[in-house]
Amino acid sequence: MGFSSALQGRAAHEALIVRQDAELRLMETMKRSIQLKAKCDREYAIGLAAVAQQGMKTDRADEMQGSLITKAWRSYMDELDHQAKQFKSNAELLEVVCEKLTHLSQDKRKARKAYQEEHAKIAARLNHLTDEVVRKKAEYQKHLEGYKALRTRFEEHYIKSGRGGRKLDDVRDKYQKACRKLHLTHNEYVLSITEAVEVEKDFRTVLLPGLLEHQQSVQESFILLWKNILQETSQHGDLTSDKFKEIQKRIDNVINSINPSEEYREFTEKHNYSLYRTSPTTPLVFQFDDALIEDIPGKLQSNTLTVDNLTVDWLRTRLIDLEMSVKECQEKQLKMIEHANGGSPIANGSIARNGSTASNGIQSPKDSQNRQSKDLNALRCQEKQKQKLVDMIKCALNEIGCEELPSGCDDHLEQNFIENSFNNDQQQNSATSTNSTGVSIINELRRRGGVLTLLRGRPFKRKSTPQPTTPTVNRMRTQRFNKLQPRSQSLGSLSMSLSTNRPLYEEEWFHGVLPREEVVRLLNNDGDFLVRETIRNEESQIVLSVCWNGHKHFIVQTTVDGHFRFEGPPFPSIQELIMHQYQSELPVTVKSGAILRRAICRERWELSNDDVVLLEKIGRGNFGDVYKAKLKSTKQDVAVKTCRMTLPDEQKRKFLQEGRILKQYDHPNIVKLIGICVQKQPIMIVMELVPGGSLLNYLRKNSNSLTTRQQMGMCRDAAAGMRYLESKNCIHRDLAARNCLVDFENSVKISDFGMSREEEEYIVSDGMKQIPVKWTAPEALNFGKYTSLCDVWSYGILMWEIFSKGDTPYSGMSNSRARERIDAGYRMPTPENTPPEMYRLMLKCWCAEAEARPHFDEIYNVVDALIIRLDNSH
Ligand code: ADP
Repeated sequence: MGFSSALQGRAAHEALIVRQDAELRLMETMKRSIQLKAKCDREYAIGLAAVAQQGMKTDRADEMQGSLITKAWRSYMDELDHQAKQFKSNAELLEVVCEKLTHLSQDKRKARKAYQEEHAKIAARLNHLTDEVVRKKAEYQKHLEGYKALRTRFEEHYIKSGRGGRKLDDVRDKYQKACRKLHLTHNEYVLSITEAVEVEKDFRTVLLPGLLEHQQSVQESFILLWKNILQETSQHGDLTSDKFKEIQKRIDNVINSINPSEEYREFTEKHNYSLYRTSPTTPLVFQFDDALIEDIPGKLQSNTLTVDNLTVDWLRTRLIDLEMSVKECQEKQLKMIEHANGGSPIANGSIARNGSTASNGIQSPKDSQNRQSKDLNALRCQEKQKQKLVDMIKCALNEIGCEELPSGCDDHLEQNFIENSFNNDQQQNSATSTNSTGVSIINELRRRGGVLTLLRGRPFKRKSTPQPTTPTVNRMRTQRFNKLQPRSQSLGSLSMSLSTNRPLYEEEWFHGVLPREEVVRLLNNDGDFLVRETIRNEESQIVLSVCWNGHKHFIVQTTVDGHFRFEGPPFPSIQELIMHQYQSELPVTVKSGAILRRAICRERWELSNDDVVLLEKIGRGNFGDVYKAKLKSTKQDVAVKTCRMTLPDEQKRKFLQEGRILKQYDHPNIVKLIGICVQKQPIMIVMELVPGGSLLNYLRKNSNSLTTRQQMGMCRDAAAGMRYLESKNCIHRDLAARNCLVDFENSVKISDFGMSREEEEYIVSDGMKQIPVKWTAPEALNFGKYTSLCDVWSYGILMWEIFSKGDTPYSGMSNSRARERIDAGYRMPTPENTPPEMYRLMLKCWCAEAEARPHFDEIYNVVDALIIRLDNSH
């Protein structure tokens, strides 16, 4: 069905016009789109060209010569540039296509107009004839009516006038004319109808179909052109076109030409023959810089791990970490091998990650294999490296064996002292409350009581002893052991212990928590030994200290079944273990070679807390209360200084300093140390009881009754004590009336050695916080430099206190003000009733130049001479 048969109606004609209008609009839309597409392509071409240009900026240096991958890349970029050009030319062609579409649209517009005109033209003739027929018909009716009227008039006249007359003739003539007119109109009407019928028939059957047929062919020819335009449009954007295909093919080819095994051929050949044809680079040398430890001989050694009390825990933790790393490495390797052998897939770790790489399809099975073996190698290296560290730490820890750890610090005497005494309390607590790992051996020993000490009652030669000694040797050794007892305690206490059921801590050769430094002082000859307790990490350890080429300290090892041993066999009690070591004459450890020859018993000042019964509080010191107490053994009255449990370790260390210093001195004017108790808290210093208490209080209390002679006697006593201290190179540093005690008959004893130092000169480096400024010499205040001559300055103040009967020096002045004034040359005036010689002595003691001050020897002599003179004068 074509236009001619289907579109004849008026509505169809209208629709055809509307359709053409729509087509023209579609053309306009297409034109705009194609223009845009051309623009896009042109811009893409520009972008692509830039990409290619960027890609071309590859390193053209020698290093990449012969690289297939570089070559491929450059070609790829060239092709990309070609692609860019292609896009550009396509854009240009699209613009041409666009012009064609414009022309087509114009032609289509013209055709539409021609159709409309032609259609109007043929329709106009038909319309005209239709109008003519209507008009002729109307004329016909008009003439017919005229005729009929004239005929009626003629007939009337004819009847009236009979067949003649002028009137009749006139009417007849008119009638005849009307008749003629009617007949003519009739004919015209007939003709016009005939013509209209013909025209209508032609319009319908010839002209309109012809016009429509023509129109259809015109429109179809337009469609053909339109289609061509679209085809061209599509062609110019076809990325699968031959041109693009060729480019893509060339890209594929050049990329395919990359051959991994050829890639480095030229590079390796080149370097093989020229630049790097040398043996592998010299290995980097990592060497311990010995200069670092030049100043600390002995403690730290190059390339050697330091195992001491400061490092052992760290080393052990490190060892555990490292061993875990080694194990992890091994497990990973195992998994990897399983995986490679087709075992279960690996859930995590590097292989799983590799697996995910493989899943993107890039990695070949060979690559994956290589990667696995590379990872395996890396793990093996890691394992080896860690194992090396493990071995090193193990070796270092083994070296120590059961020897007690050396102390890492130089000043560990006090430290140990504190640690031990402090922890001792903790262990007591833990022993009573819980059976946790922190429970000390010593508590366990105490708990087990006599069971541990029953040696005599048992056959000495134990079945479990791998290296038994013969009974003869046993006897000989026991005798020798007894004979070799060193000290006044007569019979060897070790032997004594065998005869009793007493616990270890009651053994004479067991020294409790005696600090290591003190232990070392007691062990003088090779073979001297003692047993003591030390606390490490809240755990008590029993230590055998032996003098053998220096001093060795061995920790008693505890077996799982609660026996005790060193490197040799285990024993149910420490006493038996020590006896075995002693009698067998076998070295405690092979490495040390240390043999036990002579048990060293506790010194008299090593007391147990239970040896003292506290009675009443008699004073309050810096560290804690001071009590009057009684020694259980001798019923002797004593003074006991306690140290508050809550004080920090540093303070406790300072507290014990006094005991450490005092125990060496024996002078009537120095308060005597009876012992120290460090078995449990509170740690205590036991001293002779000086009944008059502190000199300062005594002076104040007895100010009315004190005589000059008594005051001078006090000065002489203090000078005697200080002369003794000076001879021992002891600097008191806190000489003052408050730190002197008054004995019977007003005799004075120097006390409170908490700040004392056994040195000729002591330089304070840790600040001057609690310095008794008004008693301290200027050079000590200003430069921290202490000598016995500083004590001389303080002695001058003490004299002043004695003669002022307990006044406060520089009263009304603050410490800093006093300091300022002293530096400016001010000296306190003489107290009332002071003998001028004594005041002169005071002033001498207060010489700004330390060297200008008298030594205590001289002071003593001056005071003594004055007293003699005074005594003689009475
Ligand atoms: P700290 O050194 O802790 O300051 P002190 O040595 O000053 O303690 O002692 C405080 C007080 O305890 C003294 O003032 C004195 O009264 C009394 N005191 C200290 N030691 C004795 C002692 N051996 N005999 C009698 N009383 C003492």
